[in-house]
Amino acid sequence: MDMPKIESRVFDALVVGAGFSGLYQLHCLRDKLGLSALVLEAGAGVGGTWYWNRYPGARCDSESHGYCYTFSKELFDGWEWSERYPGQPEILRYLNYVADRLDLKRDIRFDSRVKGARYDEGANFWRIVTNDGAEISARYLITAVGCLSTANIPDFPGLADFKGQWVHTGQWPHKGVDFSGKRVGFIGTGSTGIQAIPVIAETAAHLTVFQRTANYSVPARNAPLTPEFRHYVSENHAAIRRATRSTQNGQPFGIEDRSAFDVPPERRLELYEAAWNKGGLQFRATFRDLLANKAANDTAADFIKSKIRQIVKDPATADKLADIDHPYAAKRPPIDTDYFETYNRANVSLVDVRVAPIEAITRSGLQTRDGREYALDIIVFATGFDAMTGPLLRMNIAGRDGLTLAEAWRAGPRNYLGLQVAGFPNLFMITGPGSPSVLTNMPVAIEQHVEWITGCIAHMRERGIARIEARPESMDRWVKTVNEAADATLLPMARHSWYLGANVPGKPRVFMPYAGGMVRYRSICDDLVRKGYEGFALSR
Ligand code: NAP
Repeated sequence: MDMPKIESRVFDALVVGAGFSGLYQLHCLRDKLGLSALVLEAGAGVGGTWYWNRYPGARCDSESHGYCYTFSKELFDGWEWSERYPGQPEILRYLNYVADRLDLKRDIRFDSRVKGARYDEGANFWRIVTNDGAEISARYLITAVGCLSTANIPDFPGLADFKGQWVHTGQWPHKGVDFSGKRVGFIGTGSTGIQAIPVIAETAAHLTVFQRTANYSVPARNAPLTPEFRHYVSENHAAIRRATRSTQNGQPFGIEDRSAFDVPPERRLELYEAAWNKGGLQFRATFRDLLANKAANDTAADFIKSKIRQIVKDPATADKLADIDHPYAAKRPPIDTDYFETYNRANVSLVDVRVAPIEAITRSGLQTRDGREYALDIIVFATGFDAMTGPLLRMNIAGRDGLTLAEAWRAGPRNYLGLQVAGFPNLFMITGPGSPSVLTNMPVAIEQHVEWITGCIAHMRERGIARIEARPESMDRWVKTVNEAADATLLPMARHSWYLGANVPGKPRVFMPYAGGMVRYRSICDDLVRKGYEGFALSR
């Protein structure tokens, strides 16, 4: 048998992941700072989340003109989106376009998963080992692994014996899955499930959806972009960039500056109706206090629940779908194409697994606690991810004195700004836990982090600084800031959300993303740079 080729190479910087963040980070380090840099990517191509999530209906919830890089006008001008929300294949084409235009692929090692990374204090190098035995040393280690890239597959007994096919949406087979004529069981009604269910229902013989937590959703109203809108986008790069950098959520639209109670109830309903008809995440922007005031939130929640009851014809099914236990948008709010309408199809049924949880996967299907058995040919797990910390922890990172990231984060992901952790010098996390990341439009958060890290490394090299590392007391302050920002919102009221790590058994329950908004976060990051990298220890 051929042994894998063992490489041993030294770089200024090693970047892990070739999605939105890794591609831009490579460009900045190599082409702007002139460093030697390598990207390790577990997939066979670029794209990150858009490489792996190929499930039917996979589409971005941010609108296409805001869901792209804005750092280069040439790149922006050289690409034209076709739909209001870009589908997975189009985003993957876009990221390949970027990688090719910037000639990035020559510095990406594909099919390479990090097996371990260890900080060698004497040499001040990170030593990284891949699954196929390559050894790489780098001064800076930058994780660009995404927030939602480690699949969460519940540990149901019996899965190994299932004689049908099973798939997780985040590890979708490249050749696709043929649902035609099949009895399909579908577990999960988060953003992914809500996108995939209507599409799979079109070809499956029967689709049984196993719902644990009922979820809100607002119609996306996806459509091809009109020539007028394409023209607007092509003429307005600077304005779109300014807009995405001036809103708290990094979206090209702002949140209305009015309370739900500034208007009389009839007017409020009209505004919700208009937002429902317009579609998309902008529904959340109808009033400024929807995520801050429970009574305000109730008005939006009641509106959506009444829509569910209007759309879904079978009252018992409508009851299950509208029995939602958390405030609107306290979990990531999905948007959809015909999600609730799908339950009017004769070949779709809904099972409430909060009442009777899934007990086991059997050889021929699935069994719930009430003793019912469902015969299935295919089971789809749309059961989400070990979010934010999962992809970082599985790299087996060890810092000074062998301290592992898993040990440092036993009680939750303590860090400074979602960028650095004490004891792990020169390790930078792009959109790590503690940063706004998943609460914003990701490319905007990514550009900000990549540019901050690039500026930091440039600063170090200009001044002969060998190491940068978060101070422990800065982490304590930042953890407090992250908690306070979350507590000022209704987000912690969704007790089962992945924002809190509650979807993975045994994971510490800590609110992970920074909820104070992108504008405030950017100004905090810029400010501490002006103060000489306040809160970090820099050494020669
Ligand atoms: P998710 O939001 O974590 O949803 C997972 C679903 O699986 C939930 O309904 C969950 O129920 C259910 N589930 C998990 N374990 C279960 C079990 N043991 N038994 C029964 N049900 C179980 O995951 P996701 O839908 O993949 O979305 C994750 C995130 O990815 C989104 O929030 C979003 O940020 C991102 N995303 C974005 C897009 C987009 O932009 N278009 C699309 C898809 C995903 P519980 O709620 O009860 O835990």
